Amino acid sequence: MTSSLLQSTIEREAAILAPYAQASHQSRGRKHPESTVSYRGAFQRDRDRIVHTSAFRRLNGKMQVFTGDMGDYHRTRLTHTHEVASLARTVGRALRLNEDLVEALALFHDIGHPPFGHAGEDALDECLATFGGFSHNQYALVIAEQLEGRYPSFPGLNLTYEVLEGQKTRIDKSAAASQAEGPLLEVQVVEAADSMTYDAHDSDDAMKLGLVTIDDLLSCTLVKEAMATVKSNYTGANRDVIRKAVVHELLYRQVTDLLETTSQRLAELQPKSAAEARRMGILIQPSQELSEKKKELEAFLYQRVYRHPKLVVVRSLAQERLRVMFHGFLERVELLPERYRMRATEVGLERSVGDYLAGMTDRYCDQQFHQLFASA
Ligand code: MG
Repeated sequence: MTSSLLQSTIEREAAILAPYAQASHQSRGRKHPESTVSYRGAFQRDRDRIVHTSAFRRLNGKMQVFTGDMGDYHRTRLTHTHEVASLARTVGRALRLNEDLVEALALFHDIGHPPFGHAGEDALDECLATFGGFSHNQYALVIAEQLEGRYPSFPGLNLTYEVLEGQKTRIDKSAAASQAEGPLLEVQVVEAADSMTYDAHDSDDAMKLGLVTIDDLLSCTLVKEAMATVKSNYTGANRDVIRKAVVHELLYRQVTDLLETTSQRLAELQPKSAAEARRMGILIQPSQELSEKKKELEAFLYQRVYRHPKLVVVRSLAQERLRVMFHGFLERVELLPERYRMRATEVGLERSVGDYLAGMTDRYCDQQFHQLFASA
């Protein structure tokens, strides 16, 4: 193959991206400048860097909502991440946004989750309350900028400004919303995809695990409508097939609504660049009507699934273990890996212990608890 047959990222993006997409060559760059190649754009590089981190691999052992001892059907933090990336790419591509940036942001969005999901996050936040607290969104930046080392000359992944900025908007959503400029459209696509994904798959997992039935979920308008479509398309299908078809329909309805609503907005305002789309405050959101139905479903999931007695027990046990481990490592610093003892001299012992615990998978966390602190 001669080099003239190779398409550069600039040529490819010029041919397919909308004017309001964030082009790779217009990235504000990286903290530590690096050489570039014509066939691989900056965001494609970020995406690959994220996938190659140990923090990304460990998402496989971190719970989304349900823990490993509840079976092996449900989503883990890693499979959730892939579902978000897949949905976000569909939306990003249909809107002619930068799919590489969308994918990098999606694969990165939950990388900072500690063991045991939001329960683990709350426990660490409490332990670190007088030291600045803990948030998984903030921790993702610590992973990207400090903990993951790939290069001898500087710490971190040296991700592009856009990926880091996108993650920063997740840290304080109300602060981000009050900014004069909205987030990049690619950032908003990932946010929307995250919400569409967990509404659908938490419903699916909860039904499969028997925490709620499909009849319970029919009290939510969005599920009721999805069920009506499924029933008119399939007759005589078994409950398992019906459940999957309803979940598929939940996603389809949300994505279609989001694309119709957003493409209409973009057609009306016609932003000429990514910067102009931000200044215009264009929002990638579903229609008002669908937002209401999503809220209803989310309220149901909150009450009936996330606060289900089975989950409450698992969560409080996990939180208690994390607390014991946090205080245990503070008292017995010699048990910390050398790397985190060294890190304590830079960021303080409490923060370093928090960073160490946050990086653990659920199973490793349990294992370390039993090995080091169970009899304490
Ligand atoms: Mg997520």
